[in-house]
Amino acid sequence: MLTHEYQARDGAHHLHPFTDFKALADQGSRVITHGEGVYIHDSEGYRILDGMAGLWCMNLGYGRRELVEAATAQLEQLPYYNTFFKTTHPPAVRLAEKLCALAPPHIQHVFFTGSGSEANDTVLRMVRRYWALKGRPEKHWVIGRENGYHGSTLAGMSLGGMAPMHGQGGPCVPGIAHIRQPYWFGEGRLDEAHGMSPEAFGQACAAALDDKIRELGAENVAAFIAEPVQGAGGAIMPPESYWPAVKAVLAKYDILLVADEVICGFGRLGEWFGSQHYGLEPDLMPIAKGLSSGYLPIGGVLVGERVAETLIEEGGEFFHGFTYSGHPACAAVALRNLELLEAEGIVDRVRDDLGPYLAERWASLADHPIVGEARSLGLMGALELVADKATGQRFDKSLAAGNLCRDLCFTSGLVMRSVGDTMIIAPPLVIRREEIDELVELARHALDETARRLT
Ligand code: PLP
Repeated sequence: MLTHEYQARDGAHHLHPFTDFKALADQGSRVITHGEGVYIHDSEGYRILDGMAGLWCMNLGYGRRELVEAATAQLEQLPYYNTFFKTTHPPAVRLAEKLCALAPPHIQHVFFTGSGSEANDTVLRMVRRYWALKGRPEKHWVIGRENGYHGSTLAGMSLGGMAPMHGQGGPCVPGIAHIRQPYWFGEGRLDEAHGMSPEAFGQACAAALDDKIRELGAENVAAFIAEPVQGAGGAIMPPESYWPAVKAVLAKYDILLVADEVICGFGRLGEWFGSQHYGLEPDLMPIAKGLSSGYLPIGGVLVGERVAETLIEEGGEFFHGFTYSGHPACAAVALRNLELLEAEGIVDRVRDDLGPYLAERWASLADHPIVGEARSLGLMGALELVADKATGQRFDKSLAAGNLCRDLCFTSGLVMRSVGDTMIIAPPLVIRREEIDELVELARHALDETARRLT
């Protein structure tokens, strides 16, 4: 089929996620036809370096036969059975065991879901159930962060702090509050007219958690949920002072920590879980995406022993679950994916080689006239676009500089996403050094072109 035929038929029937339906029907979609390694191909014959690993999920990259074979073998053996009502099947058993072997030692249980959003719905129900079982049902508030992302179901979007999402389909789930995000470039440097050092700003953001807990009453607060590094919000790495201070606040008030590992998990930051990079011991860790390298949909919640023991010993039946919780083919693919990540030493390579290499190459973009900051951690990076490098003044919003840069990237063969005027990357973890060089050069080219058009 030709591109324009795909576009016409797609526009006629397909409502896309996070899309202006009318604009897309008018303009037509890009049609991606196949992929291999870190590259995708479109229906016009262009090869594009996928700097976003799909949606932060293709950790092993495209075209891995082993994952196709794992899916095929399982579909032939047992394409579906559920894990409700005291049944199980071999792939779910093996995947649960493997995940608990990879997780920090205080985590020995997992609840499977079909996606990251379902994982966060599960989190909300679990933390409230936990405190109810402890005889403290009033401890039901969950605190999240502005501009955090935890999914698109009603609970996921309510836990997240994306204002445009809250503005549609509300009211949100009650009993959820938000505090400021530890986004130094976006907020900290502009604070109180004079700006704050990153470390002071990290402390101030943790103090905002303390303030919110006291405002709600510590006796009413169940949990704090956050991504170790905010992904969809703009690849925001918190200042080093942030997590230790947050940990201290949560310990002071006996509040559960939920670390959303949907993006950070499975090697993105150079550890199996982003929490390990920051020395966190979360009570719950929602997971998805890199769990199966996106080959089939699967998510879950890793549940620490404190919560698991209460749910198991005191909870009776937990009235919660999904038809596809632990789906056999998805579980078989996830297991094979974890085995490959491990056997090929990919997580260690991100930490010891590719992460530092990207950091060095990415930092070279900080010199560009329209880049106010270039930051990265592991294989996640961001560039802040600015109109005035000296002051860090942003471009006028009407110019939509980020979207322009994103489109120019795509045309020149790179997927780089824009969040406002923050450009972000999270390539497959199998990327090679020379492909990192290519990514950085393509990004530089798009920055040059963006600057030429806007300045
Ligand atoms: N949590 C985080 C941190 C995410 O980035 C996402 C998706 O981007 C989700 C949850 C939701 O996952 P899903 O899209 O699989 O429902």
